[in-house]
Amino acid sequence: MPLRALILVLGDQLDPTSSALDGVDPARDALWMAEVAEESTHVWSSKPRTALFLSAMRHFADAQRGMGRTVHYTTLDDDANTGTLAGELRRAIAAHRPEHLVMTEPGDWRVREAVAAVARDVGLPLEVRTDRHFLSTVAEFAAHAKGRKQLRLEFWYRELRRKHRILLDADGGPEGGDWNYDAENRGSFGKKGPGLLPAPRTFPPDTITREVLALVARRFADHPGRLDAFDWPVTPAEAREALDDFIAHRLAEFGTYQDAMWTKEPWLYHSRLAAAMNLKLLDPRDVIAAAEAAYRAGRVSLASAEGFIRQILGWREYVRGLYWHLMPGYADHNALGAHEPLPAFYWSGDVEMACLRDAIGQTLDFGYAHHIQRLMVTGLYALLLGVEPRAVHEWYLAVYVDAIEWVELPNTIGMALHADGGIMASKPYAATGKYIDRMSDHCRGCRFDPAVAVGEDACPFTTLYWDFLARHETRLAANQRMALQVKNLRRLDADQRAAIAARADAIRAHGGAPPPGAG
Ligand SMILES: Cc1cc2nc3c(=O)[nH]c(=O)nc-3n(C[C@H](O)[C@H](O)[C@H](O)COP(=O)(O)OP(=O)(O)OC[C@H]3O[C@@H](n4cnc5c(N)ncnc54)[C@H](O)[C@@H]3O)c2cc1C
Ligand code: SF4
Repeated sequence: MPLRALILVLGDQLDPTSSALDGVDPARDALWMAEVAEESTHVWSSKPRTALFLSAMRHFADAQRGMGRTVHYTTLDDDANTGTLAGELRRAIAAHRPEHLVMTEPGDWRVREAVAAVARDVGLPLEVRTDRHFLSTVAEFAAHAKGRKQLRLEFWYRELRRKHRILLDADGGPEGGDWNYDAENRGSFGKKGPGLLPAPRTFPPDTITREVLALVARRFADHPGRLDAFDWPVTPAEAREALDDFIAHRLAEFGTYQDAMWTKEPWLYHSRLAAAMNLKLLDPRDVIAAAEAAYRAGRVSLASAEGFIRQILGWREYVRGLYWHLMPGYADHNALGAHEPLPAFYWSGDVEMACLRDAIGQTLDFGYAHHIQRLMVTGLYALLLGVEPRAVHEWYLAVYVDAIEWVELPNTIGMALHADGGIMASKPYAATGKYIDRMSDHCRGCRFDPAVAVGEDACPFTTLYWDFLARHETRLAANQRMALQVKNLRRLDADQRAAIAARADAIRAHGGAPPPGAG
């Protein structure tokens, strides 16, 4: 019997209930999946990131076959593998001659264009179905954005809370009277530190994952990152266990400590669920419902439940809407005219600055850093140094296990680098080393002093913060929310400004890190 539909399933579409599979008839349709080198080389993808995708894809394909479906699957080490999605899709079409192609909306622009181009070239109809994984659609976000000059999270989040009846009181208002409990969610661990932390549930590699780890180690030996600590959930069942573990043991403290950092403590009270959600192993509705249920049962505070739900119902839906609303072209923004190269130590963690060493070190070890490490350590440093946004974007997309362009790009270009000129964030997240000192123990173990801007002990964040304000003084002075920071800058005299500029230049001339002995 001729093949009716070839159903394309990408590495971040591993949802057994996805729209692409609606109406699948095992007698007439087949699934298509391909492991291709291009997805690990278009950015220099870290080993743990590639391994997670491949392992989860292989588990998904096995589960589908177990349901009696045909899966045409190309492995990375297949001799005939052309190495690109487009090449593999052409090969599959030639071999199986489907009447049409079906897929759920892809998660990044590049892939959507590549698939559409193949379908056009071979003259096959391509049906792209709405991605039901998200609680909002691209069209709904576009309608929300229409006529607005600025696209802020808060309004979109409230709209979704109301629409999906999440954390509402009996009158339809926000539970507890406020939409947002951020002010209660900015705790640090203080001098004593976090104490004994609840270790997250981990998932030691099974046979499939071990094969993938060996393949990735062989095939991408020179790529960044390590594989020996790989313990991510790779199936929907494991992802659900990871969620239950988070709700039971870490959600209660999530809110209070969501911005805190501590040396050699990569997980703290974070959920580690982004990768499972982004690969669609886990439905965000289940995650949100579990957090709300824990609050309703009196097991966690409203501030913790709301703080967590806002990340998923708010930020996650918002950045996806923003991405599709602003693509293509969003990756080309460079409003602050930043052109420095990315420091080489971002790929090695080999750097004297203790906060950067810790954040980059765990990134390479696990493919993970939590939000404040991404925003206020690696992101902040790139912002202050003036690194080319595209290079920063390619780094974030390469190193994290949860990195997919729809979510990574707005966070990098809009939130961390302010490269979109304020579409996403009303002001740059610029801060001195004192912010890191307040939120972590890093400065205690660092040879630099976060309170000092010039001289041999000067913290590079602090030097570069003043230099950043000075370089963008005119632009920032026009931003009301930066008024206090600009006022403080204007208190510096000409000699202080010159000393800061000289040290900032020395840092730039020395690959982005302070040269030894430089004043
Ligand atoms: C520069 C930069 C790059 C980032 N790149 C990615 C990325 O590639 N993929 C990714 O999923 N997240 C990204 N984030 C957002 C956030 O840092 C991660 O979602 C989070 O650290 C993942 O860890 P977790 O699952 O333990 O999250 P938790 O701290 O437990 O938060 C819960 C969930 O909320 C969601 N979430 C939280 N913050 C955001 C946000 N700003 N945008 C979207 N969703 C959010 C995630 O799904 C996350 O799993 C980035 C943030 C920055 C500043
Ligand atoms: S002193 Fe500066 S470089 Fe060192 S850990 Fe603190 S913020 Fe980071």
